[in-house]
Amino acid sequence: MRLVLLGPPGAGKGTQAARLIARLGVPQLSTGDMLRAAVAARSPIGLEAKEIMDKGQLVSDAVVVGIIDDRTDAPDCAEGYILDGFPRTVAQAEALDAMLARKGQKLKAVIELVVDESALLDRMRKRVEETIRTGGTVRADDNPETFKIRLDAYRAMTAPVSAYYKASGALRQIDGMMSIDEVTAAIDKALEA
Ligand code: AMP
Repeated sequence: MRLVLLGPPGAGKGTQAARLIARLGVPQLSTGDMLRAAVAARSPIGLEAKEIMDKGQLVSDAVVVGIIDDRTDAPDCAEGYILDGFPRTVAQAEALDAMLARKGQKLKAVIELVVDESALLDRMRKRVEETIRTGGTVRADDNPETFKIRLDAYRAMTAPVSAYYKASGALRQIDGMMSIDEVTAAIDKALEA
């Protein structure tokens, strides 16, 4: 099953993706995680992406489309995957459609987690507190200033992706303000339909 998880930073995409991989047995493909790994490995893509990510801006469409094109060819993606954080622009959504058509594949659904913007900054702060509490490394872009830029990028570049999938009939909008379990249940229901 091939799914897209759509929603602003802090909407709960990562949390829900973790639950979906356990149930569906397909990998989560997070372009953010892959880019952070590239930054940590100091690969050419990582070196190019680091500054852009630290500023809260979007990495070029060509780079992330290339990453997804390669990654989805891996054997663990044969039964499907959950895209988390991709596509983030209409151009990426179009490239994904073209890639799927080329590979003779289809998306099952695009799940959008719809969340009040006023709640997002607070969720990001809680994520930072939790990361510190558990001894993890706080993301360089998880600070209030950069988070605002990431939200601006979402509004300008990613919100139109929702309209793109609405037009194609693939979009399933879920109230992301519900409890984590309620959101999971709503996603399950949407996938049954
Ligand atoms: P995320 O972990 O999804 O919040 O992504 C962290 C950062 O990685 C974003 O703020 C962007 O700089 C970059 N990024 C992740 N996915 C994409 C994408 N699909 N297109 C462009 N930039 C991306």
